[in-house]
Amino acid sequence: MNPSAEGAAPGGEARREVALRAGYHSPQVEVDVRLNTNESAEPPPAAFVEALVDELRAIPINRYPDREATALRSALANHHGVRTEQVFCANGSNEAIQCLLLAYGGPGRPVMAFEPTYALHSHIARLTGSPVVEGRRDEAFRVDPAELARTVGVAAGLYGAAAPAVTFLCSPNNPTGGLETPESIEAALERVPGIVAVDEAYGQFAPWSALELVTSEPRLVVLRTFSKTWAMAGLRLGYAIADPDVIASMSNVALPYHLDALKQAAGRVALRFGDEMRARVAAIIEERGRVAADLSELGLEVWPSDSNFILFRTGSKDGSAVWQGLLEHSVLIRDVSGWPGLDGCLRVTIGTPSENDRFLSALRSVLSDQPKRPWM
Ligand code: PMP
Repeated sequence: MNPSAEGAAPGGEARREVALRAGYHSPQVEVDVRLNTNESAEPPPAAFVEALVDELRAIPINRYPDREATALRSALANHHGVRTEQVFCANGSNEAIQCLLLAYGGPGRPVMAFEPTYALHSHIARLTGSPVVEGRRDEAFRVDPAELARTVGVAAGLYGAAAPAVTFLCSPNNPTGGLETPESIEAALERVPGIVAVDEAYGQFAPWSALELVTSEPRLVVLRTFSKTWAMAGLRLGYAIADPDVIASMSNVALPYHLDALKQAAGRVALRFGDEMRARVAAIIEERGRVAADLSELGLEVWPSDSNFILFRTGSKDGSAVWQGLLEHSVLIRDVSGWPGLDGCLRVTIGTPSENDRFLSALRSVLSDQPKRPWM
């Protein structure tokens, strides 16, 4: 008998919730100027690459790596002034998010997020079987305390007083660029019973970090990455800093030897180049100011950014048409105009000064060529 006739899924049918929201993936196309995925425009310093190659020569790759990644974790602990037991390393912060949700989410354990935000929080939640309860950001894309309380109420009404199990705040928020205040994180910790995960993938570009609170708040998890400031997106390394019990739970659900020896070495070596990286962050912040000022001068709505990207609205022009027009000038940015609450919005990563110039001059030309949206 055909099992689907009985309402059961036919053999071989994939779980529907594993599909990522349509339009999430930014196209990987060959262009001159790539400002679509918030990476570092510059490769790591040459001295870093040399030091890394030396380290790699010494790695016994016939052996499994250090399962606990102790040397890397202790270097990160030292870097942030926390204990080694407070650090969990993973293949990009996405894997740290996955481990957090495998440990604390799951069926009946809802995950709360505030849209528009980083789509992978909800997506990975669904992959781990966790229901998602979505709140909305306000007009300035902040998480308003009343909306936070309302959303907690929805989660508790549906799943009981222990809900939500995990709440995501993204600070600075991708794709809108703004920062959470200490008060908003403390308010979340007061109102939610479970884990509060603050995703600081762009934390180095911001004036404040929730890392300040991590030692006194056992339910707070801060997520960081080497993909942006450390110019290592291709190596896939991220980490979480939290209470040792939370870190132990995350380690329990990671696959054995998930962090290869090459990346453990790369992370340790990168941390020796803190001064170079801080100088780069300062240069990006300066460029961010220049690009934002030029976008405003073009009469576009621009949101303040504490990250290495800027969200802007294309005004009377259609967002996707402007994005396409830029692509025709070989400039690739991110079209987020189809995301909830982001009608007409595009996100541009801050690149090198000459890349930013190329973007701005392409944008000027596209804005002067494009027809207006018919209904505006
Ligand atoms: N969090 C946020 C907010 C991000 O924007 C990104 C990268 N786009 C990540 C996490 C994932 O970073 P990683 O490369 O470390 O997996």
